[in-house]
Amino acid sequence: ARQFFVGGNFKMNGTIKSIQDIIRNLNDAKLDPKTEVVIAPPALYLLTAREALRQGIEVAAQNVFDKPNGAFTGEISAEQLKDSGVTWTLTGHSERRVILAEGDEFIARKTKAALDGGLGVILCVGETLEQREDNKTIEVVTRQLKAVAEQTKDWSKVVVAYEPVWAIGTGKVASTEQAQEVHAEIRKWLSSTISKEASENTRVIYGGSVSEKNCRDLAQQADIDGFLVGGASLKPAFVDIINAKA
Ligand code: 13P
Repeated sequence: ARQFFVGGNFKMNGTIKSIQDIIRNLNDAKLDPKTEVVIAPPALYLLTAREALRQGIEVAAQNVFDKPNGAFTGEISAEQLKDSGVTWTLTGHSERRVILAEGDEFIARKTKAALDGGLGVILCVGETLEQREDNKTIEVVTRQLKAVAEQTKDWSKVVVAYEPVWAIGTGKVASTEQAQEVHAEIRKWLSSTISKEASENTRVIYGGSVSEKNCRDLAQQADIDGFLVGGASLKPAFVDIINAKA
């Protein structure tokens, strides 16, 4: 069985003080031991977060560069993250695809560099509202996945996060049926493109307006293996989402 996985993406939110408060709350909480928990604070706070967090909760970067070192002003490598006790990174978040204009191929190279550097990767994919209304959801999601498959066939350290762009930060969560349908398609794609094992073992998690109210129904779906949580990961209710299966 796939281990339930819950990530908290803080995005560009928080201060030293507020992140310490969030970490204290997580350290003191009763968390389902069967759930793998990872938090992604802004890069500036990764080291403090790692130092303050208790064992068993991992830290993720929100972004990574595709080279190990060199003249790349403002960037951080997988090697540097690893050196700082960061064991995961996000790649392909829609805010980076849209606002920072990151393309499929660049995201795939970063994903490959992170995996080669020994990090786990939470690879985000998802369609915009316009693409959904044009019935292009599966086409878009599989195109985003395919770019990564062209760079790496080892998906053992990849978690796929399906995040419909129209559901991010909008309070408009995908219905359980909408999410399950896309997750099942992603699993089918993994089976035909990577391997049967990858299809069976890869966690496919959902992101987009996940809350303590809607997490339990979503968690019941056969192909939803966890969540990537934005806004609610900054609040005490994040604990309830981690415990959605308990
Ligand atoms: P919200 O949970 O705030 O909708 O954000 C989802 C997200 O983008 C997580 O990466």
